[in-house]
Amino acid sequence: AAKHGGGSNCLPYTDGMAGAVAGSAALGAQLRQAVDNGELFVEYQPIVSLDSGRMTAVEALVRWAHPTRGTLPPAEFIPVAERTGLIVAVGDLVLREACRQLASWSAEHGPLAPAAVNVNVSARQLAEASFTDRVAAVLADTGLAPHRLTLEITESTAVALGDAVTHLEALRRMGVRVALDDFGTDQSSLTLLQNLPVDEIKLDRSFVQRSAPGRAGAMPAAVLALARVVGLDVVAEGIEVPEQAQRLAALGYRTAQGYHFARPMSADAVDRLLTAAPVTAAAT
Ligand code: C2E
Ligand code: MG
Ligand code: MG
Ligand code: MG
Repeated sequence: AAKHGGGSNCLPYTDGMAGAVAGSAALGAQLRQAVDNGELFVEYQPIVSLDSGRMTAVEALVRWAHPTRGTLPPAEFIPVAERTGLIVAVGDLVLREACRQLASWSAEHGPLAPAAVNVNVSARQLAEASFTDRVAAVLADTGLAPHRLTLEITESTAVALGDAVTHLEALRRMGVRVALDDFGTDQSSLTLLQNLPVDEIKLDRSFVQRSAPGRAGAMPAAVLALARVVGLDVVAEGIEVPEQAQRLAALGYRTAQGYHFARPMSADAVDRLLTAAPVTAAAT
């Protein structure tokens, strides 16, 4: 039946499977065009100081202005990009745009501009022999100082790293910072922390949003203590309500990110925040 193009009389489930595969192939082809046509764009989510409420950095988050389906979030196309290898082109585009944008904010807003931009990086990008050179080229082209760029890698990315750790080491020698994203969600967090060259941990939002007393509720404090001992910065992700901000600040967290402070927004919206007042949301 499958040979005949999936007649519905036999094995109807193969139709669905073929459809899903065809759908993802089609999305891959569309994504390739989207890269060329400039349909991908970057939003920025403020990362704020819990002390001052000031925006200390922004995280660059890619979106796709799909011609028929509206704006697609990364969950809808990053997996396809990773499977097809298009993530290398997508990642280059985001990195370049994010660095260009931060340099431009600095030119316009001086010391009020965010100090740094965080850019998410997939394992597939780090597997490219040219990754370090690509990053160095973007920094040179945009004139952004290396210490103003933080590359965010997830634990699952890091697990798959192998020799690509040498990229992280080379980039850190240049002054680029490395953050471990979604910290605590994988099995091997502590091993990774021991072995990987990182500067910063991003506490996953699942720990922030669990406020139960007992073990689960103890994780933010435990992670902060660990980070202090090994000398890493920590950012708490996914703060949605004032109580979470207060609780983390009371524990000693200094930096956080989440809808409570600001959603991901256009570069223009960030501009307006920077022009309006040196404040995002009240910190706590
Ligand atoms: P991430 O790197 O952990 O980014 C944070 C995600 O959490 C973003 O979702 C953000 O909008 C969302 N978020 C922020 N504050 C809150 C909150 O208070 N509550 C909740 N529920 N969510 C919050 P987004 O933009 O949909 O991105 C999802 C993931 O896609 C990112 O997770 C990252 O892993 C990936 N991604 C985004 N942009 C890129 C990129 O340029 N390259 C790569 N390789 N991956 C990317
Ligand atoms: Mg991230
Ligand atoms: Mg994260
Ligand atoms: Mg995530």
